[in-house]
Amino acid sequence: MDMHTDGIHHITAIVGNPQENIDFYAGILGLRLVKKTVNFDDPGTYHLYFGDEGGKPGTIMTFFPWPDAYRGRIGSGQVGTTSFVVPEGALPFWEERLLHFQIEYKKTVRFQEEYLAFTDPHGLQLEIVARSAGEDSTFAFGNINTEHAIKGFGGAVLLSAARHKTERVLTEVMGLEKIGQDGDYLRFKARGDLGDVMDIKLSPEPRGVSGVGTVHHIAWRASSFEEHEMWQNHVKEHAFQVTEIIDRQYFNAIYFREEGHILFEIATDPPGFTRDETEEELGKNLLLPPWLEPHRDQLERQLQPIEARILEEDK
Ligand code: ZN
Repeated sequence: MDMHTDGIHHITAIVGNPQENIDFYAGILGLRLVKKTVNFDDPGTYHLYFGDEGGKPGTIMTFFPWPDAYRGRIGSGQVGTTSFVVPEGALPFWEERLLHFQIEYKKTVRFQEEYLAFTDPHGLQLEIVARSAGEDSTFAFGNINTEHAIKGFGGAVLLSAARHKTERVLTEVMGLEKIGQDGDYLRFKARGDLGDVMDIKLSPEPRGVSGVGTVHHIAWRASSFEEHEMWQNHVKEHAFQVTEIIDRQYFNAIYFREEGHILFEIATDPPGFTRDETEEELGKNLLLPPWLEPHRDQLERQLQPIEARILEEDK
């Protein structure tokens, strides 16, 4: 069967202190905190979701903040760099903003595109690139207006432990198209207009170690529950061990590890983040799935209070 994902649904990473995480991704990068919930597999810790105004697929960066966990090491078997996309002409604004917040950045070029490369407070490698594709954000925060705001993911750089095999998974299983090579990078394109540009770094990297400052997994989009079941069969037909369909409250998920050791998820576009909050309220309340609601009092005592706030330096 011939199947094609539209691109990235979300990327999930492990970080440290949750308030530092919010202050960076909301306070500095201007993403909206669209869901404050707990890690369903470790309910005493948060799972924070950031995105555009409605948290649409292709814009969602999620975090497991584990303040006491060990630092990881970025390397093969992981997403190495996460790229965000801003409107054309917005890069000078972002350079100035990074300078203003004293965040060191480098300018790099791949495939004739200019990137601002920097790291978050917990060591994750990030980039900003400007492109015309993808709807402009409708969410303004602090001094970031919608002409400059991050639209969502541009894509990601994959560090594979077996790059020919990862290349085959991207093209034959996920349905991306290979579009070329530039120096140390191969580029692939998915069909959507956000989270659609994937690069594989060619030169080998030491094996990555999971921990604070590393990406945990990358999730690809399935447009419906029906298509999701087809994806599960499709992945099985390519001889991967794939999980059962798991209810993640805001989407259904399946997981498999590709042969370059990167953990892939396929997640459904529905039902989305307005399942348990109105769009206006997104991110304001601690939301729990029905099976954890009986433990709310205990969890609220365990979790440190956090908030999305405009930073002093941005007033
Ligand atoms: Zn996920």
